[in-house]
Amino acid sequence: MFHKILIANRGEIAIRIMRACREMGIRTVAVYSEADRDALHVRYADEAYYIGPAPAAQSYLHIPHLISAAVASGAEAIHPGYGFLAENPFFARVCEAWGIKFIGPKAEAIEKMGVKAVARTEMQKAGVPVVPGSEGIVTDSEELLAIAHDIGYPLLVKASAGGGGRGIRIARSEEELMAAWEKAQSEAKATFGSAEVYVEKYLEAPHHIEVQVLGDNFGNVIHLGERECSLQRRRQKLLEEAPSVNVDPTLREQITAAAVAAAQAVNYTSAGTCEFLVDHLGHFYFIEMNTRVQVEHPITELITGVDIVKEQIRVAAGQPLRYKQEDIQIRGHAIECRITAEDPDKGLLPAIGQISAYEPPGGPGVRVDSAAYAGFTVTPYYDSLIAKLLVWAEDRDAAIARTMRALHEYRIDGIKTSLPVHERILEHPDFRAGQTTTEWLEAFLATVKV
Ligand code: ADP
Repeated sequence: MFHKILIANRGEIAIRIMRACREMGIRTVAVYSEADRDALHVRYADEAYYIGPAPAAQSYLHIPHLISAAVASGAEAIHPGYGFLAENPFFARVCEAWGIKFIGPKAEAIEKMGVKAVARTEMQKAGVPVVPGSEGIVTDSEELLAIAHDIGYPLLVKASAGGGGRGIRIARSEEELMAAWEKAQSEAKATFGSAEVYVEKYLEAPHHIEVQVLGDNFGNVIHLGERECSLQRRRQKLLEEAPSVNVDPTLREQITAAAVAAAQAVNYTSAGTCEFLVDHLGHFYFIEMNTRVQVEHPITELITGVDIVKEQIRVAAGQPLRYKQEDIQIRGHAIECRITAEDPDKGLLPAIGQISAYEPPGGPGVRVDSAAYAGFTVTPYYDSLIAKLLVWAEDRDAAIARTMRALHEYRIDGIKTSLPVHERILEHPDFRAGQTTTEWLEAFLATVKV
């Protein structure tokens, strides 16, 4: 087992990973930017290295600085968390070249799943259903119109290198399609450095259901059940639950088998997530695989008892998974609220400032993963997530009641947060009935005053 791990990340996920390390007797190395001198992850770690100015490109994304910190500290492995360099195959290769274990899947697997147009083709070969769309990248407008004619409107133009809900454009007619195509390409080029786009049928009001998988270097791949992640704004998740009320035992069997087949097709060897859309008929379609630990991984931990980060670390150290599929039992229900520094009065636009008072909830079944504290300043440089409220209870109704109770206890003063929005969602009859699709939250936010 490793003696020391560097965590190439910040915020709640850096602390989440360090907590796993501490329990495993592994020493931790934090890295921090100028804006994070007073951050909690820096205090939590056994040692910490400064890696550059606030903008991520000069610090958390700066590979030479990260490798220098790893070498100077004697860390044997790097955990990338999520975001930043977590899905960068080049970084995974640089780590290996320096003899530092990258805690994640092999660079080849990241590469295959990272280019979405390639992933679609790989999945089709593996017998996993994908959303009807183009075969690979679309490079000219004639081809684009021919595909549109075949599959019909509405369509989505998606950046092949995309992520975080960016580089996706909808088109409901031919005129819209040409404009969407141009816009998606320029946005993709600016955001991801690649203008490559592909086209997919736009499914109306589907559910976003994803399956957590784990693989090791001995050919074992298992799944840990599904998560319901339909509550999104700007194609980004705000509240998730596990399991999903919209997945019956038959669908569960099919969708989890498809996720395992998807992971096996790319020799997957770490924690990963296969994302699917499920339409109103219960048909499911693969949209992408995230080759890293996800923000919402704890709700799966709560219903399975598996520590996903510890399994990642064990697998990276060359150990087999500690679980076989038959060991995995789903128990109870879990809900995650992503508490963000966003202003509910301004359509959840990012809010910054200093947290003046911070009192997290507690009590039975409540877990808070956060790096917030009274006095901490939320800056505009990184994502707006400040805490994850994670609640477990014996069934869905009890989990909703408990989440409401925990939200009632939560106090964050000094900045605007998404806290009131979570309460409004949880008390809504559509949410209670499990009828919230990927289009629900934006429509709700447009009408509600929180
Ligand atoms: P990203 O990698 O940027 O997160 P995804 O491919 O995972 O992009 O899509 C993000 C979200 O966009 C999905 O959860 C879903 O809400 C919506 N979406 C993506 N593809 C489709 C589609 N074909 N039809 C309808 N909605 C879609």
